[in-house]
Amino acid sequence: MRTTVGIIGAGPAGLLLARLLHNAGIDSVVLESRDRSYVERRQRAGILEQGTVDVLREAGAGERMDREGLRHDGIELRFDRRRHRVDFPALTGGRSVMVYAQTEVCKDLIALQLKEGGPLLFEAEALAVEGAETDRPRIRFRHQGAEDVLECDYVVGCDGFWGVARAAVPDGRTFERTYPFGWLGILADVAPSHDELVYARHDRGFALLSMRSPSVSRLYLQVPADTDADDWSDERIWDELERRFETDDDWTLRRGPLTQKSVTPMRSYVHEPMRHGRLFLAGDAAHIVPPTGAKGLNLAVGDVVTLARALVHRTATGSDELIDAYSATCLRRVWQAERFSYDMTTLLHTAPDATPFENRLQVARLERITSSRAAETDLAEAYTGFPIG
Ligand SMILES: Cc1cc2nc3c(=O)[nH]c(=O)nc-3n(C[C@H](O)[C@H](O)[C@H](O)COP(=O)(O)OP(=O)(O)OC[C@H]3O[C@@H](n4cnc5c(N)ncnc54)[C@H](O)[C@@H]3O)c2cc1C
Repeated sequence: MRTTVGIIGAGPAGLLLARLLHNAGIDSVVLESRDRSYVERRQRAGILEQGTVDVLREAGAGERMDREGLRHDGIELRFDRRRHRVDFPALTGGRSVMVYAQTEVCKDLIALQLKEGGPLLFEAEALAVEGAETDRPRIRFRHQGAEDVLECDYVVGCDGFWGVARAAVPDGRTFERTYPFGWLGILADVAPSHDELVYARHDRGFALLSMRSPSVSRLYLQVPADTDADDWSDERIWDELERRFETDDDWTLRRGPLTQKSVTPMRSYVHEPMRHGRLFLAGDAAHIVPPTGAKGLNLAVGDVVTLARALVHRTATGSDELIDAYSATCLRRVWQAERFSYDMTTLLHTAPDATPFENRLQVARLERITSSRAAETDLAEAYTGFPIG
């Protein structure tokens, strides 16, 4: 098999890259180790920055998102039983975010790819990337029980944190931080108890109220990193959420049947550089953020937009200028997202070894955000997204 761009992984990064290249007349092949139904059901991100929304629309993949997605103009910060709304458009000159689940973004992009794009092979596991420093890099992969080779002009590792592509970037440097807590996330068949996301800091730990649709709630609880989700009964989860979201007014939490329950670890991770010869890393293959800032999917989108532009520029002009700038261009934005995600995580979570002094400082930081327009604007600008490129 032979193609111009070999893409490993059909998560948001790989699927969107294939779409952008198709729109520019550049052929690609996507290899995905899992089956279609697994990829379309994997519950993960749900908040799309303004820039991500714009990119999906321009790529011709925004039609259902515009119909079914929920535009959000703010979030609520909750601490000390108090509530404070951060008004995004007022603070950022009109920007907002969209609540539209990653599962739906992937479904839309898969449908488009299968209808009019290049080959997308499910249950095709990349085993290794070879010859990245040559003009003919190759992906060795296994499909339908047989090993095969995909020869490419360029290879892009969009294969997530556990993929194989990163191993083919020698002499890289990694920066990492793990956190002593994770998120117990649930999906519940009940209308969200608030019309915008609620980020709650509580002495018992962080809680987040989010949603997937007008009838499906997504909620998270900070739990110790080694928590087994099965140790938490549905009733215990609702009781704990109720306590952490407590307010002085008459706000109440709606309860409903749980349809999913799992624990996600929290990690910050960056691999530099994001390129080796003709191999590029994009999305979670190169960097991970804790989900508190809702940045992971949006960073993946920024990477592949930057890469698609570089490959289109190369095809049109023969110049490697943008390709050579790819890693540094992406990493500038990645580090801003790492900083913001770290800030939000340490602002809102209770560390197991936190001193009373540190706990009091968290509240002081929240009071600063809720009383200073400059501090609040900083949060709103970061939340609604850093410019791509
Ligand atoms: C609980 C949770 C909540 C989150 N919430 C948010 C949020 O609100 N906002 C946000 O922006 N981000 C959020 N994220 C992060 C976001 O989901 C990821 O950053 C995003 O999925 C990254 O996309 P990706 O395409 O780079 O990687 P992935 O989505 O991980 O896709 C990688 C793909 O590669 C495939 N693959 C792996 N290895 C191979 C191989 N050897 N061969 C072939 N295929 C392979 C995998 O099966 C997968 O389909 C959240 C993550 C979690 C876990």
